[in-house]
This record gives sequence, C-alpha cells and structure tokens, in this order.
Amino acid sequence: MNDRPLVIKFGGTSVGGGAQFIRAATIAADAARNRPLAVVVSAMSGTTDTLIGFARSSVSSGTREGSVAELHRSLAERHLKAAREAVSEEYLPEVEERLLVLLNRLIETIEAPATDQAARKAGIAVFGERLSSVILAGVISSQGIPAAVVDDDPIATVGSFSASDVDADTTRERCAGYVAPLLDDGFVAIVPGYVGRSPEGSPTTLGRGGSDLSATVLGRALGSDEVWIMSDVDGVLDADPRLVPDATLLPRLSYREAGDFASLGAKVLHPKTMEPASETGIEVHVRNTFAPERPGTRVSGFEEGPGVRCVALRRNFAVELPCVSRRHRKEAAAVIGIGSPDEGDLARGRRSLREAGIEAVHSGIAPVGLVFVVFEEVADAALLVLHGSVIAAPAPAGEVA
Ligand code: ASP
Ligand code: MG
Repeated sequence: MNDRPLVIKFGGTSVGGGAQFIRAATIAADAARNRPLAVVVSAMSGTTDTLIGFARSSVSSGTREGSVAELHRSLAERHLKAAREAVSEEYLPEVEERLLVLLNRLIETIEAPATDQAARKAGIAVFGERLSSVILAGVISSQGIPAAVVDDDPIATVGSFSASDVDADTTRERCAGYVAPLLDDGFVAIVPGYVGRSPEGSPTTLGRGGSDLSATVLGRALGSDEVWIMSDVDGVLDADPRLVPDATLLPRLSYREAGDFASLGAKVLHPKTMEPASETGIEVHVRNTFAPERPGTRVSGFEEGPGVRCVALRRNFAVELPCVSRRHRKEAAAVIGIGSPDEGDLARGRRSLREAGIEAVHSGIAPVGLVFVVFEEVADAALLVLHGSVIAAPAPAGEVA
C-alpha cells in the first residue's frame, strides 16, 4: 500500500448531474480503499459561468431582488436535484441543509456592500465549487467511505483576486493543518477546486479552468506522487478533435510538452497545471471519468526524445506582410508542432503544405517546436495537413528514459 496521498480532480462534466456524481464517487471510493485520497472538485458544469455572469451584471448596490431570487432558485433546484439522485437517505438531509446554508451565504455575499468589485466577483464565483463539494462528499459517504469537505480553503494565494498566484509555503502549512488530519483519520478530503484564499482571508480564484491547478498544487503540498485529472475525454489528444477528426490519444507526454500544449490552447488542462507537478515529480494522469479503465495520458518528467508530439492552432496572429502596403493587414494563424523537431521534420511539414497548395508565410523551429504561419482562411486546412505530416510515431509503450 502506497501511503502517499493520491489527488483526484473531477471536472465540471464529471459532476454534471446525479448520475455523474455517482460515477465520480465510485472512482474515488475505489481509490480510497488503497491509499489516502484527496479529491478536488470543479463546479457542476455551467455553474461558474452563471455566477460570474451574475456578478458582472450586478454591482452590489444595484442588484434587483427578483434576479437574486431567480439565481437562488435555479442553483438550489439543480444542486438539490443532483443530491437527491445521488446521495443516500442517510446523508441526504445533512447535504440538503449544507447546500441551503451555502446558498444563503451566496445571497449574503451578493447583497453585501462591496467597494472592491474584483474581490466581490471572486467571492461569488467560488460558490460553484463549494456546492459541488458538499454533494460529492455526501455521495462518497453514501458508498460507505467517510468523506468530508475541507471548508478552510487550503490553497493560499497572493496578488489579484482572479487568476491569483499560489503561495506554495503557506499552502503547505494550510494543507498540514486542514487536509492532512482528515486523511490521517481515514477520511477522503474533498477540496473545492479553483478556490484560493488571500493573505487577508478573502476568497480568491485561480482563474478559469483553475481546478486542474488546484489538484497539482494540493499534490505538491501533500507530498503526493500521483494526481489524476478526470474529465469527459480519454486524455490529451494530439490535436483539437473538433478541428482534426482523426486526432489520437497521446499515451504519454513530458511536463514541458504538456505545459506548452496547454499554454497554446489545449483545453483539457489549465496551462499552469504542470508547474507544481514538474517541481516535485508528480505523475499526472489525464483520464475519462466515463471510461476510467482506459489508459489515458501519463505526464511525467522523462527525456522526451526527438520529434513532434502534437499540433496546436493559434488564431488571430496578425502579421504585416512585407510585400503588401502598410495599410494592408491580413489575419494570420500559426500552427505549432510541439515537441523537439529537427530540420527533417521542418522539411516534411513544408513539403506537405506545398503539396496541399497552402502557402506558409513563415516557417521555422522555435524553442516550443515547429512554427508555421499561414493565412487565417487556410488555418484549419493547414492544421489538418500538418497533423498528418509532422507528428512522430509515439515511443513504444513501456519505454521510459
Ligand atoms: N469552475 C471553474 C471554471 O469553470 C474552475 C474549473 O472548472 O476548473 O472555470
Ligand atoms: Mg478544465
């Protein structure tokens, strides 16, 4: 038995309704039978959008009573429904009560006089994760494994109220104080993702999609060697599947490759997720909540070896072409082949574009990998062509440097 805590993070669609909560809880309960477990939860999908939209459209003084009541009604309905579908009779009254207490606190936060709008917005946005955490703790408990929500926001931040920077040392202390004792007592510790706490004790956020980062930050603070990021896709694919229908699963990636891919737009991971992981050598597994038996993508610190792993598309890459007049700007995009390419890879990419009749305004090798700048109107086509030509065959499974 490994006694280093495992951290599992569930994304918003993995807790999108009662049935999904049950799946997520089953994965957590199974894992908790073998080792200490902390679970990071996102808000039920769509909830954060609702909360932020509400915070934006209302300043504390101008909030209309009717719209506050409507927000309360819709959040209560959705969360109570999920709880009733997924929590056993034994735990349901407590879960319902906690949800209603949280919703009342949300209303108080909305109606409190606020001078700092950024602080107010963060204070409202964090309620999605607080609500989903209460339900998940109830569902895991219903499956016979004791679980408790960590209410004290263990992740300490500095700087702004949104997309705040993490204070790793204070976070370690707070985790030792609020998370580790629960694990020692045999509880699954449920930590609301995305939520941070300022030095003054106010709620902050890690930025949109920040629950992934919460998971590796927590893993680093708890001395974990493994973090699972559970979502509704099989892992990290080698291109955006909406643009490249035959995008394939990447069995493994280095921290650098995964971090670069996330920074260049891969939606499955928050761009900063890999920083705490690479710092302390935590293996990150990206898996599908709805098919957890599939291998997913393993991200770790191995020597990547040569070749391109995946391709990303950056739009709105305005370039001024030397051959046209100064007034004439043309929208361009960049296709980036992430990995460690060589001149041969670059030549292959250029040739494939030429054969497809696509002009590359610029192409070359940058620290991140291959870069091909093309006009916006052929960007999707260029991505498809380059996906087919520059990606190296994956290293054989099991070969770890
Ligand atoms: N709920 C937050 C968001 O929607 C954080 C997350 O899901 O990772 O951005
Ligand atoms: Mg996400």
